[in-house]
Amino acid sequence: MTTVRLRLLVLALAPLVLLMPLLLLLGMTRWTSDYDKVLIANVESDLRIAEQYLARIMTATGDELKGVAESAEFAQVLGEDRNAETAFFRRKRDELALDFLYYLPEENAIEDAARWPVIATALNGRSDTQIDIFAAGDLARFPGDLAGRARIDLIDTEAAVPSARMAEDRGMVVHAASPVHLAGQEGVLVGGILLNRNLDFIDTINALVYLNAVTGGDRQGTATLFLDDVRVSTNVRLFEDVRALGTRVSAVVRGAVLGDGKTWLDRAFVVNDWYISGYLPLTDSYGERVGMLYVGFLEAPFTAAKRSAYLWMMAAFAAVLALSGPVFLWLAKGIFAPLERMTQTMRRVGQGDLSARNALTGARDEIGQVAAHLDDLLDQVQDRDRRLRAWADELNQRVEERTAELREANEKLESTYRQLVMSEKLASIGEITAGVAHEINNPVAVIQGNVDVIRETLGADAAPLQTELNLIDQQVTRISAIVGKLLKFARPSEFSGYDETVALAPVVSDCLVLVEHVLAKGDIQVDTHIEPVPAVRIDPGEMQQVVINLIVNAVQAMGDAGRLDLTLRPEGREGREGVCLSLRDTGPGIPTDKLDTVFDPFFTTKLGEGTGLGLSISQSLIQRAGGIITARNADGGGAEFRIWLPAADQARFTAQ
Ligand code: ADP
Repeated sequence: MTTVRLRLLVLALAPLVLLMPLLLLLGMTRWTSDYDKVLIANVESDLRIAEQYLARIMTATGDELKGVAESAEFAQVLGEDRNAETAFFRRKRDELALDFLYYLPEENAIEDAARWPVIATALNGRSDTQIDIFAAGDLARFPGDLAGRARIDLIDTEAAVPSARMAEDRGMVVHAASPVHLAGQEGVLVGGILLNRNLDFIDTINALVYLNAVTGGDRQGTATLFLDDVRVSTNVRLFEDVRALGTRVSAVVRGAVLGDGKTWLDRAFVVNDWYISGYLPLTDSYGERVGMLYVGFLEAPFTAAKRSAYLWMMAAFAAVLALSGPVFLWLAKGIFAPLERMTQTMRRVGQGDLSARNALTGARDEIGQVAAHLDDLLDQVQDRDRRLRAWADELNQRVEERTAELREANEKLESTYRQLVMSEKLASIGEITAGVAHEINNPVAVIQGNVDVIRETLGADAAPLQTELNLIDQQVTRISAIVGKLLKFARPSEFSGYDETVALAPVVSDCLVLVEHVLAKGDIQVDTHIEPVPAVRIDPGEMQQVVINLIVNAVQAMGDAGRLDLTLRPEGREGREGVCLSLRDTGPGIPTDKLDTVFDPFFTTKLGEGTGLGLSISQSLIQRAGGIITARNADGGGAEFRIWLPAADQARFTAQ
């Protein structure tokens, strides 16, 4: 999810991050170049103004000189004395703001014409004004210390062509000459303005050029007149209020303007800073490049303006970028929220919560449709899961039912098998026992018969043998009883078929009477609890035999002392009415693993004394009567035998 979001963010911001700077760069480059062009155009027009001003001064000087040369006053003065002439020239010089003014008669003019083309032109009858360079000696000839004014000490300047010269003593002069035609007097009137240190001239140019505040405010605009490469008149400052007279132009500008004669329109290093500059080569009357006219303004404010424009653009770009990120993420949230919701839903489903749904009811776009589709699918999955679970539960229930049925069937099978084995066992034992009993009966009958014969034969003589004979009788009776018991056990059916109903209470009471002598042998206490119970269908003799056997077993187990609890009460089992007789003693009880075995024929722990047939026969008798006999160990210790018999009918007998 994060990577998709990141990718989308990159996708959305890439044009902004990559293209915007490119566009900005292109735009700024274009703007800068236009801006520079405007600045150059500006300085070019400034230079033209300065050039025109210089031209105007030259023209005006020429015109004024011509006016003087042609004036009547001049014609009059020329013929007068020397003093008047000098006073006239001085006055006119001051009026016309010239630095020198003099008249050359023709013969002198011819001499000077060889040196100054302007004079030559004037001799030819035309006024002319040119820029000329005067050597210090030339200047020294004029009154007013022109040579001193012109002299400028050179100052070492960064980037200028190295020079060994210490001072510039030449003078740059606006040199005008006008022909004089008077009666008898032909000549040339010559005037000039020294431009070295002519600060009025340069300040006027500066004031004219830099009228506007943009380029001219607070000494930003500068103008200079160069003699060769030396600043002879300038408003460029070296320091505060110290003009940079004597400093020189940079080597590059010098090469281009003075060397190649080009007009320089570009940035240039001026004295100590960079200026947007215009340099115009100035030629003298020989057509030689002798100096330059310069105007320019400080580049720094415009560079600063450019830089601040750049910074503004970059700041704006950064701000747009900084804003775009969050705005995009905010917009992208609308896309990603449903996707995240779906992921969350799938995670919950994965953890087993099939009820999880997207439930994006508001979203109708493609993602919303996918979410709705997913919800539909989850509905189906949940429905199928529910049905599968129901099937699984049903299946489990069926398996459990079948298992229970199988277990029950198995138990029945086992018990049937046990009964079968037991029946087989009993049948075989019965047969053997019956055979043995019959075999014993015959010899016993013979013994009894012969004892009777002996007794009859001896008559009174039998008296001394009476004890032995009685013993034989007793033992024979005992043998008969045992054989009878064996036969009863072996062929119980022969003794069955008792159809009368019987009340158990008197039968149980009779039993207690019959075993009184057994109980009396030790200290045995008998507690009877007899409730009214329904009649049952059993041979009372057999019932007595069973009860007596149980009482005798209990007494034998308890030994000398103990208590026998005998309870008779009604008890229904499996919806059938019945009677339960319970005998509980305080003896040692029966070992748990022997609880079932005690009913096996011939199982006895009374070696030599017991036959192990008592409980077995009792079980046969009770079962034949439709009842059940069970053994268990009582909670307080001791064995408990319970006989349950079904009720014969609904009639109830009370204890008597
Ligand atoms: P016999 O009494 O001849 O041994 P029974 O079939 O009556 O034969 O009894 C079988 C065995 O059951 C006894 O030897 C005895 O170990 C055990 N038994 C019977 N009744 C009790 C009882 N009340 N307490 C403890 N053991 C008993």
